[in-house]
Amino acid sequence: MSPYRVAVVGSGPAGVYATEALVRGGADVSVDIYDRLPTPYGLVRYGVAPDHPRIKSIVVALQKVLERERVRFLGDVDVGIDLTTAELRELYDAVVFATGASAGRRLSIPGEDLAGVCSATDVVAWYSGHPDRAQAGEDFPLTAEAVVVVGAGNVALDVARLLVKPARDLTGTDMPPHVLERLARSGVRDVHLVCRRGPEHAKFTAKELRELLELDGVATEIGVDPLPAGSLDPQTAANLRAFADLAAREVVPARRTLHFHFWSRPVELLGAGGALAAVRLEKTREAGGAVVPTGEVTELKAGMVVTSVGHHSTRVGTLPFDEDLGRVPHEAGRVLGPDGRAVDGHYVAGWAKRGPSGVVGTNRACAAETVVGVLADLASRSPRGAGPEEVDRVLAARGIRPVTYDGWLSIDSAELNRGRALGRVRTKIPDWETLRHLGATGAGRPGRSTV
Ligand code: NAP
Repeated sequence: MSPYRVAVVGSGPAGVYATEALVRGGADVSVDIYDRLPTPYGLVRYGVAPDHPRIKSIVVALQKVLERERVRFLGDVDVGIDLTTAELRELYDAVVFATGASAGRRLSIPGEDLAGVCSATDVVAWYSGHPDRAQAGEDFPLTAEAVVVVGAGNVALDVARLLVKPARDLTGTDMPPHVLERLARSGVRDVHLVCRRGPEHAKFTAKELRELLELDGVATEIGVDPLPAGSLDPQTAANLRAFADLAAREVVPARRTLHFHFWSRPVELLGAGGALAAVRLEKTREAGGAVVPTGEVTELKAGMVVTSVGHHSTRVGTLPFDEDLGRVPHEAGRVLGPDGRAVDGHYVAGWAKRGPSGVVGTNRACAAETVVGVLADLASRSPRGAGPEEVDRVLAARGIRPVTYDGWLSIDSAELNRGRALGRVRTKIPDWETLRHLGATGAGRPGRSTV
């Protein structure tokens, strides 16, 4: 057995990259990687858009890490609830928290609690088959003709694209059947993307914008003249070229239209009979680098609003947490306590460390930085972590039976088989009961998972 025992909490890209760096680091380290869900891969499984299989294929690399000899997967264990953070620290030489940023930011404007107002976090979780959100779709008024999506980031663009994309072009994805059925019956005709600044400031990426050019029967209205791509940074210039191409594209007949509303911000969500009916928008402009209101207000009819204005992390057990920043305070990955000093044996990686930004690969360098600190600290002390059997005994004494990597392979096989039976690559299983049942059987077959 490896002398040093490290727990990694969260099996999304940051957690798996941290695990990889720990077991590759030259020191004799073994890792238990925990997840609240019975399934690994975090946002790759439940955040990357279902129609982006190329991005999801990163799973093939992540899987290799989980299959390493000195790595164990312990799914369906809620750290902070099933096992306190202090107990976890007692059991291991070090604990790396890679718990992400799962909560959607609120707009904090009147009307946000009306029926029909949803967070992109919930919509994404629903169409991704997240077991916490299997039924969330029932609350989404997809019978609405007009939907407003607030935000100018790639998550807003994912949601908008999936709402306008023809349902037949989604059948090859891993979405659960009930999600595909809801989307096929959708009454949505117009999706309005509301962006508080201009096209040159949008956080969409050009590749994702260019995907809109391929959508069958979907027109795009840009609303403003994208600026010429003069002395702009390459990313902004590429975005503006994409907007110009979208503006120039004619789609006849258009089945659905995606409207961009730049320099606009929602100031109130208006209801009728308790449900959303319209969005009050105010024109904005730039003054000294800041977005300022102009007082010019319009109303846009809408039966559904999706807010997509970023994410924040949530507190895990007694781990220090900065409420204002919405993440864990740290220095190069070492968690800092209220006194500003490093909390012994506690580390953080990924979105819980640096906030919700970057692509999947960004987490690799982020996790590597954290692991440099972990390994340096381990080198200065003797191993004292409990062995795997002791960890299993502690969990079993509380009636906790983690889903192992083999258990996950059973879930994986079942999803692939269900998909194959429907002529698809995979069909996600969105309910806790089935996931737990399959996970407990643990009769995983060797062989590659796909996405
Ligand atoms: P994001 O990129 O940070 O975008 C958030 C957007 O919300 C910004 O446009 C921001 O505008 C706007 N916003 C913030 N507060 C607002 C308010 N009160 N009113 C109106 N607008 C407001 O966040 P995200 O879209 O959630 O994405 C998170 C990360 O995941 C990003 O790094 C993203 O690139 C990545 N991601 C990548 C992909 C992909 O590669 N395909 C897909 C999905 C997500 P300001 O700029 O004016 O603040």
